[in-house]
Amino acid sequence: MQMTTHDLKQMDLDYTLHTYARNYTHFVRGKGARLFDNEGKDYIDFGAGIAVCSVGHGNERLANAICQQAKELIHTSNLYLIEPQAKLAKELIKQSGYDMRVFFANSGAEANEGAIKIARKFGEVNGETKRYQVITLDSSFHGRTISTLKATAQDKMHHYFGPFPDGFVYAKDILDIPNKISPVTCAVLLELVQGEGGITPFDKAEIQKLAKFLKEKNILLMIDEVQTGIYRSGELFASNYYEITPDVITTAKGLAGGVPIGAVMTSLKDIFSPGDHGSTFGGNFLSTRAALEVLEILKEEKQSGRLEKTISYFTQKLQNLQKSYPEIFIQEVGLGLMRGLRLKDTESFNLFLQKTCENRVLVLKSGKNTARFLPTLTISKEEIDEGFERINHSLKDF
Ligand SMILES: *Cc1c(COP(=O)(O)O)cnc(C)c1O
Repeated sequence: MQMTTHDLKQMDLDYTLHTYARNYTHFVRGKGARLFDNEGKDYIDFGAGIAVCSVGHGNERLANAICQQAKELIHTSNLYLIEPQAKLAKELIKQSGYDMRVFFANSGAEANEGAIKIARKFGEVNGETKRYQVITLDSSFHGRTISTLKATAQDKMHHYFGPFPDGFVYAKDILDIPNKISPVTCAVLLELVQGEGGITPFDKAEIQKLAKFLKEKNILLMIDEVQTGIYRSGELFASNYYEITPDVITTAKGLAGGVPIGAVMTSLKDIFSPGDHGSTFGGNFLSTRAALEVLEILKEEKQSGRLEKTISYFTQKLQNLQKSYPEIFIQEVGLGLMRGLRLKDTESFNLFLQKTCENRVLVLKSGKNTARFLPTLTISKEEIDEGFERINHSLKDF
């Protein structure tokens, strides 16, 4: 018997740590871009579990791949060969076109920890003085572990948890990065579209210029693609879209469609020796088999032209909405299926969030006042239409 929402909420409050400002909607299943609550009511999901459910909810192909792998073998440890892990690494390299090798972890933060370790070792073994500083950007987000929290250049997240590891320096924006370089700088870590910082895509020419400049300085360019990666931008990586060749790429969220996984890829193919880095769960049979299926599905979406059509249809819908309600939405921003609508302040954003949820369409927040849209990459025209109809309906009460 399914629990009542009331009992479940109480159990959640009694037994789990209160780290999330939860919305107490009680979902029990999903199909495509729809979620169903315990009363059978359907919601249009424009958040996809924060860019995680890349191939939609209840995807048959993904479910079958996971079930089959679970019956065969879930985990052996990285002490032995793991066929889907090697195949997934090869597929990521093939689809990205980057000449790199891959290490698998279990989350975005963990992938970024790997990137920071690559940067530190690179700084230790290259050049006369030991270099250890990593430059990151204001309004960035890189994770919740102690060092990725410090890499996250948002002071409000640094209360209580110090002392933090040394070696992170913050730049205001892309153009400010050269000012922050010192003799001990080994790397720059940044998102090409800041996911938590208000859906802010950086300028392509500025990024390309920065990439060239860092190469000349022998400083690593590390791109955090935990949110932008896995076809969210329309290309496998936003780095592909920006036409740059980073030294390090991290990714996670959409990679295995909801099964926990993270990956760090680097062109420094021999940076690590056995013992330098590792993970118990990272790259196991279950998560990498799931990710292989996700990449197969998304490659088909891309090659058939469906992904491009979905992106332009969704974007058109958002732009129309912005034009119809310019007094509510100041600006439409974003890239691919990672998009945002800026509202004039936090108050109107909160009202928007409440009204859309009442009308059963799920939207996320980014920064102080941006409504963030990260739909599943396989969302149908009908689901998009339904979602926007519901949003339009919620605006009647504004
Ligand atoms: C979500 C996110 C992370 C952290 O990923 P976790 O899996 O929650 O550890 C890091 N960087 C970016 C850009 C993210 O969006």
